[in-house]
Amino acid sequence: MRQIAIIGSGPAGYYTAEAAQKQWGDDVRVDIFDMLPVPYGLIRTGVAPDHQSIKGVSRRYESTNSLDNVRFVGNVMIGEDITIPELMSLYDAVVLATGAPNDKPAGIPGEGLDNVFGSAAFVGWYNGHPQFAKLGPDLSGRRAVVIGNGNVALDVARILTKTPGEFTGSDIVAHALHALEKSRIEHVTILGRRGPHQIAMTPKELGELAHLERACPRVDPADLPDEQEDLFLEPGQRKSVGHLRSFAAIPEAFRSDKPVEIEFDFFASPRAVLGDGQVTGVEVERTALDADGRASGTGETYVVPCDLVVTCIGYKSSPIPGVPFEESAGRFANDEGRILPGLYCVGWARRGPSGTIGTNRPDGYSVVETIAADIGVGTGKLGRPGFDKLAEERKLDVVTFRDWKKIEAEEEKRARDGAPREKFVDVAEMIKARGD
Ligand code: NAP
Repeated sequence: MRQIAIIGSGPAGYYTAEAAQKQWGDDVRVDIFDMLPVPYGLIRTGVAPDHQSIKGVSRRYESTNSLDNVRFVGNVMIGEDITIPELMSLYDAVVLATGAPNDKPAGIPGEGLDNVFGSAAFVGWYNGHPQFAKLGPDLSGRRAVVIGNGNVALDVARILTKTPGEFTGSDIVAHALHALEKSRIEHVTILGRRGPHQIAMTPKELGELAHLERACPRVDPADLPDEQEDLFLEPGQRKSVGHLRSFAAIPEAFRSDKPVEIEFDFFASPRAVLGDGQVTGVEVERTALDADGRASGTGETYVVPCDLVVTCIGYKSSPIPGVPFEESAGRFANDEGRILPGLYCVGWARRGPSGTIGTNRPDGYSVVETIAADIGVGTGKLGRPGFDKLAEERKLDVVTFRDWKKIEAEEEKRARDGAPREKFVDVAEMIKARGD
């Protein structure tokens, strides 16, 4: 019998559990730990609330939980309730699937001013992550700056500019919906330090900007490279750039029906966040690209006035004392998922914050192959019964998958009309909803 502990119940964690199930069937026991009483990680608190079809993948993770060889162990804080060395003494393999929950800092002056947020915090706020539910961004100003040219920047710009009606069918949490209903933001500038050919935005997500009820994207045609150069892009990127070209061609007459603007400012590298207490603007330096597509400052600077800044420039994992960490890449130091004998990592914790949800599937399958090669038929560790004994001794209030289903039922019951659920955003409330 193999005993495996997975830390983190997001996509990487669940694909690893699924792979272990497929590899060993009834000859494995997998415990998926999470610090929250609710599963699915980024599916619940990262994927945009108006992208419900993406969130549908959680049904697949649920079916992984339907067999006895995989169980969810929620509300357990690794490092506090139980340590990694303790887990390693109980399980043949411990897999860190902890993602990359921390914002990469922009490293510019003024980043700490009021109403400047990283995307982990801002996205966590509108998605109801208990850690960020009380973030309280001030949306009473008219202008926002979103820094970064990736899909998260698109999510944030879209959420900031949708009408309340456009959230029908989404699971945006009530506190964010109410704040957005009162929002006065009418201009969002998306700052990209490089150009249209270097964006990290995918076509479907970019295309959505053309169909917003009251907001319209704007691209300066002068920023677009010669159209012939698009031929050298890979097809997905060519499609994304095609969207930018169509945004640049939107006639002014069409814009007059759309009071909110999402403006792309390319070749614009943030140098400082300005303000005295509260943010009032971002100082930007115009950039030029070298032959390898790297940006360097031209010396020309200007200020984009704003009342809110959200940096969407990537994430990093949380280091764990005693576990080798690669600071520059913001992930655990590993060789094909191996960190130390018996300790592995997968997903963003292994490779950094890149790729889509589906990218984590091959990751999960490959780490299980590695574990299979390392542990053979298992090393005779106690596994589940060992953890259960320790949990009882420490009086841990473990939340099971069955408990989660009760929490989920309560969330569905309290959903506003047309919404799939109204999430609990407080750990104590989640635990209360589980009942006795
Ligand atoms: P990302 O795709 O890595 O994009 C980060 C962006 O920030 C890049 O444009 C990067 O520019 C820029 N940047 C980095 N450091 C900067 C700095 N100091 N100053 C200015 N700009 C800076 O990251 P992400 O948007 O956070 O997304 C993370 C992952 O989740 C991605 O794989 C993404 O596709 C995925 N995701 C997918 C969806 C979806 O499929 N619907 C939604 C959300 C997220 P450079 O290119 O110049 O470095």
